[in-house]
Order: sequence, then structure tokens, then C-alpha cells
Amino acid sequence: EGDWPRPPKTRIFTVANQKGGVGKTTTSVNLAAALSMHGERVLVVDLDPQGNASTALAVEHRGDVPDMYKVLVEDLPLNEVVKEVPDMPGLYCAPATIDLAGAEIELVSMVAREARLQRALAAYDAVELDYIFIDCPPSLGLLTVNALMAANELLIPIQCEYYALEGLGQLLRNVDLVRAHLNPSLDLSTILLTMYDGRTRLASQVAEEVRSHFGDTVLSTLIPRSVRVSEAPSYGQSVMTYDPGSSGATAYMEAAREIAYRGAAV
Ligand code: ADP
Ligand code: MG
Repeated sequence: EGDWPRPPKTRIFTVANQKGGVGKTTTSVNLAAALSMHGERVLVVDLDPQGNASTALAVEHRGDVPDMYKVLVEDLPLNEVVKEVPDMPGLYCAPATIDLAGAEIELVSMVAREARLQRALAAYDAVELDYIFIDCPPSLGLLTVNALMAANELLIPIQCEYYALEGLGQLLRNVDLVRAHLNPSLDLSTILLTMYDGRTRLASQVAEEVRSHFGDTVLSTLIPRSVRVSEAPSYGQSVMTYDPGSSGATAYMEAAREIAYRGAAV
């Protein structure tokens, strides 16, 4: 059994930021892996047609493997798509293939087009999950709207660099719209500062600015810029298994611990 508190019900996180390259996928995969290493049962839903989260978790996502496209557009049960992550007990992945790129357009004309992921998750009963992390594409289209509707919590990774806050207003306005019309219980619970370079003044200024805007929503743990973090996915591993002693591994483990204990306090 695990040593971190298990949430009373499944915590569903959407990891979103319409900017690319801010650490959405890295954060989804590593937080999920860290939580699973402490006994939580965790599913990563890959909602980006690039399939980077599937790659990082060493789950097949080429050819005609059943994927999130088939779930969202063809009503395939999520049970038939979810795979166990190799060598990571308690960690699961619903992969994305490039087919998912078509979903953004095909969903437009579908009934309850914003609710398809929510329905798929509600019907999933193969494993009793503690956490779900939905890794979003870098856009605010229907895939991200599905994710925002399906989640109880929003996690925004923010890269500590110039222009970090640009575009955040647009994301937050979308979140307000989703709250008003689709999912009133969506909570911006977590902001994680990523790719922090302690040697630059700019990084600490950005971190300060984000903390003054968002207060306690921002995790105390900063994720440092670290080569080990960027190398791990090409070995199909999380940074905690790839290099457990690295600064990136320590930071993601600590961020996951913060999330687990914050949830326990709710
Ligand atoms: P997104 O999913 O938002 O597009 P990614 O998680 O794919 O962003 O990260 C973008 C790139 O930055 C990837 O190449 C990733 O390996 C790298 N990266 C992410 N976090 C770190 C970090 N803490 N240190 C170094 N490189 C990182
Ligand atoms: Mg990504």
C-alpha cells in the first residue's frame, strides 16, 4: 500500500496551457509516475495528437492501436484503450495517435461534442483510479474544452521565461466560459512553475510575478531546467526512474507530494 494519502474520490486534472513547449506533457507524465510510485493508481489521458505522453510512457501509439480518437469520435469504451505502463505498477495510459488531429474538426458536428471525454471517463470501470491527468494539446479547441469539462481541477504549467504570462488571460477567460456553461465545479487548483533557471534574474522575476498574481495556487516546488528531464522520454521513462537522484526527479517527486497532501486537506 502507498504512503501518500489517497483521495476520497478520483481527482481529475486537466493540464492545459495553449502555449506549446511549456511543460504540459513533461508535467503530466512525471507527476503521474511520481504518484504511482507512492501507491496511487493513476491514468494519463493523452489528448495531444502528437502523442508525446504516450511516447514518454512507452505505450504504443502508431498504426491502428485503439486510441483517444476512437473513444471521442467512435464511442469505443475507454476500457478498451487504456494500457498498463511497462514496469510502472498502478500507472496507466490512454494513448493518442495522429488520428486525433482529425477529432478537433469531426467533433464540431457531433451531439454533446464538449461532453464526450467526460462521458468516457464516467463509464471507465476497469481500475479504481486515484488520479487522472489529461495532457492537452497546445490550443484552446474542442479537445481542450472536452478536457476542461471532464476535470475537477485545472493544472497550468508556466514556463519561467519572458512572455510567460502572455496568453494566460485568454486561457483563463476560456476557463470562465467553461465554468459558466459546462462545468461549474472546475477549480484552478494548481500552477506549476517549470524549466526554472535559477541563474537568471528573469526566471526569479517571472516566478515572483506568478506568485503575486496567483498566491497559494502556485506550488512551492519549482521544476528546474534539467537535461535529465528532457532526456527521460526518449528512453520511455519518467525522470524518477531514469535518474532518481537528479534535480528534476527530486523536484517532480516533491511537486507530486504537495499535490497529494493538498488534496487530502480538501
Ligand atoms: P508541452 O507539452 O507544453 O508542449 P513539453 O512537456 O513537451 O511541453 O516540454 C517541451 C520541451 O521542453 C520538451 O523537449 C521537454 O523535454 C523539455 N522540457 C520540459 N521540462 C523540462 C525541464 N524541466 N528541463 C529541461 N527540459 C524540459
Ligand atoms: Mg505536450
